[in-house]
Amino acid sequence: MPKPRYLTKSRFTLANECPTKLFYTGKKEYANTKNEDDFLQALAESGIVVGELAKCYYPDGHDVKPLDYEAALSETNKLLEHDNVVIFEAAIKYQNLFCRVDVLVKEGDQFHLIEVKAKSVDGSKANPFQGRKGNVLAAWKPYVLDVAFQRHVLNSAFPEHSVRASLMLVDKSQACTVNGLLTNFKIQKEDGRTQCIRINDEPFCQKLLTIKAVDEAIDQVCTEDYDGKTFEENIQWLSEQYAKDVKIQPSIGKHCKACEFRCKGDANHQKKDGFRECWTEVLGWKDQDFERPTIFDLYNFRNQEAYIDQRDILLDEIDAAAFNAQDDGAPGRSASQMQEIRYTYLRDGRKEAFVDHEGLANVMRDWKYPLNMIDFETAMPAVPLHQGMRPYQNLAFQFSHHTLHEDGQVVHEAEYLHDEPGSFPSFDFLRKLKESLEKNDGTIFRYADHENTIICHIIEQLDAFGAEEPDYEVLRRFACAISQPGKNTPNPWETGERDMIDLRQLVARHYFHPMMKGSQSIKYVLPAVLNDSKFLQAKYSGESYGYDVQPGSSKNFTRQTWIQYVGGTVVDPYQLLPDVLDEVDKERWNELWGDEIRAGGAAMAAYLRLQQPDLPEEYRQKVIKGLLKYCELDTLAMVMIVEAWRNYNMC
Ligand code: SF4
Repeated sequence: MPKPRYLTKSRFTLANECPTKLFYTGKKEYANTKNEDDFLQALAESGIVVGELAKCYYPDGHDVKPLDYEAALSETNKLLEHDNVVIFEAAIKYQNLFCRVDVLVKEGDQFHLIEVKAKSVDGSKANPFQGRKGNVLAAWKPYVLDVAFQRHVLNSAFPEHSVRASLMLVDKSQACTVNGLLTNFKIQKEDGRTQCIRINDEPFCQKLLTIKAVDEAIDQVCTEDYDGKTFEENIQWLSEQYAKDVKIQPSIGKHCKACEFRCKGDANHQKKDGFRECWTEVLGWKDQDFERPTIFDLYNFRNQEAYIDQRDILLDEIDAAAFNAQDDGAPGRSASQMQEIRYTYLRDGRKEAFVDHEGLANVMRDWKYPLNMIDFETAMPAVPLHQGMRPYQNLAFQFSHHTLHEDGQVVHEAEYLHDEPGSFPSFDFLRKLKESLEKNDGTIFRYADHENTIICHIIEQLDAFGAEEPDYEVLRRFACAISQPGKNTPNPWETGERDMIDLRQLVARHYFHPMMKGSQSIKYVLPAVLNDSKFLQAKYSGESYGYDVQPGSSKNFTRQTWIQYVGGTVVDPYQLLPDVLDEVDKERWNELWGDEIRAGGAAMAAYLRLQQPDLPEEYRQKVIKGLLKYCELDTLAMVMIVEAWRNYNMC
């Protein structure tokens, strides 16, 4: 029997992003980039643990486990025969609408519907969803709509009951009362479904989650206009379109840029492309039009919505005057000048880089050798690992440090990875970083704001609970010396005398390569400089990098060839990271983790995985190796970018 096509709460949420997505969702023939991230995302956010933690607050609750709609409905209805009952994942159906309520509390003829979210809130605020003008804040709207849908289904299914609705959220104002809370839970994939289970009865923190009534906010969103329909009519209409599998006419806009139903890379090339279908339908584009650069290929291009509305989408159809390029008087090119350069290079199909030789030469004159490149990996678990920590506080668990000397020598100076389950990493991290950076007095570089933000957080943590550290003063002084306070940093200090230079800012004002398209991420800049720089191509071809061939250059690679070509293009080095599956049983590895470490945010997920005390040793070692190689490549990438620039200036 075919599965019923219910409008569920997740499909309703998807339709709120874009109603056309209802047509593509769940169809195997369409590419869907979100499917690939599910398990990793769950690990990285540790949000899935919040759902399981919420159940601890209701020790008498009954879990409705079946995934099958009918079985779940029948089990729920049986439980609802009780006058008073708490049900987790209660299955509720009304006509073609279906939802699973995270926590449903029934007391006689009253229901309390509770939706659990890993989003943080300041628990001391009575109505955190409301803005100054009495409106529902945009950041909360998707959550409010989600509960509004559930309340509508529950009200419709049980009209004789009263329903009140709440969100159960992570209270960022509360400190965790127990140690190692996250390690009481295990995340696993079973039958293709990511789930979290509580693995012991250790005491849990009663303060981390807070319940906020959301009825007022729901009433407000329910009175809004939904394309000429009321909230209830809109739900009805969406459910009918979904039941009949009708594609709702696409309305294209800037939201399409991040559409998950778009083929990206080789993995999806066999699949149908929802994005392409929508844009063909609306714009009448032919295959070759999808090869032409668009405003989506520009970095941080404002007014995208207006340009799309006017159908000014293809760069070769937009006038250069639109960019209104103006000098801002600061070194390098202004944001509008760089935008015009990107536009011109992409429009004209140029293959080479734009390099502001003069500007870079001026900047480089102030640098002091050896140049220090550092990169941090950090985690922000929703559920704290440590007693006294608040949710979503930063944990700095890994760094890599490369130096580039004036004579061109590259040294992998140091690396640090805190892999001990349950202990707080950040002060030890700072200690080791200090030890490594104080070996010289050269300029320090970071890529983007992250490293500075983390140092600011560690200073806050030192002040909050680090005063007992024997080297508190020394650590604090060092941290202030290499950083600058952010806008909201408490107890701000004077910008440090060895404040880190942001390499990304230099890219933003002095460098562009068409391969970077709309990004300045190091993951895009590295392949671009490698494809552009003859110097890098000569230096890193062959087995030229590693501790076997250049003692000191690396801690994790023996003989690495970074320059490898496919179809005349240098392959992205991140794709060359050795397959971590090689040395252990592939099936076992996949079952536990997958080979995702080389994907950006996965480092945090890997760290949270290392916190699980029952992790098999061979698996632990594999994760550690993967993390070390990944972080080393991040600082080597920074070295390579600067090497490429130094070489341009020598030409
Ligand atoms: S391409 Fe745009 S209109 Fe089509 S489904 Fe994606 S977001 Fe919606």
